[in-house]
Amino acid sequence: MEKTIRLSGIAYESLVNGPGMRRVFFAQGCKHNCKGCFNPDTHDFDGGDEKNIDELINDTLQNPIIKGVTFSGGDPWEQADKFAYMAKEFKNKGLNIWSYTGYTYEYIIGSIDSRLGWRDLLNNIDVLVDGRFEEGKMLDGLKFRGSTNQRIIDVKESLKLKEIIVLNY
Ligand code: SF4
Repeated sequence: MEKTIRLSGIAYESLVNGPGMRRVFFAQGCKHNCKGCFNPDTHDFDGGDEKNIDELINDTLQNPIIKGVTFSGGDPWEQADKFAYMAKEFKNKGLNIWSYTGYTYEYIIGSIDSRLGWRDLLNNIDVLVDGRFEEGKMLDGLKFRGSTNQRIIDVKESLKLKEIIVLNY
């Protein structure tokens, strides 16, 4: 695997992309084209910047106030092998890992072995916030998600119980 990942940006210390103080990696590249998307600049697969993955990991681990990481977008699942590599390293260090995606949990499970890195990524994250952004389903006060169709899924419990376990925030 090439040791670079294409990102649209990084939030170094964020309190709004999951619980606690987190580093957020915004993937570059997205195919979902949700109407009303807040970040259309992140759709182009040739946009953003190539970053060295090991440097991103080491820099994150050097900051003791970071308790978790979040993969946002764009859609991190278009570079799942690379995000899975990051997730494994962060998991080994005890960080909590969230990932956003425009795909649904059901779609990911259905395609788990036909898409590069999907099984690996799903197995190494704690929480998946899934589904496309639906403008008509926005609601004031929604926490950690853009529209009510999106679910904050406890991945480990869902895999264990073979049903979708949603966390309430
Ligand atoms: S999945 Fe996210 S980044 Fe992609 S179009 Fe939808 S809202 Fe925008």
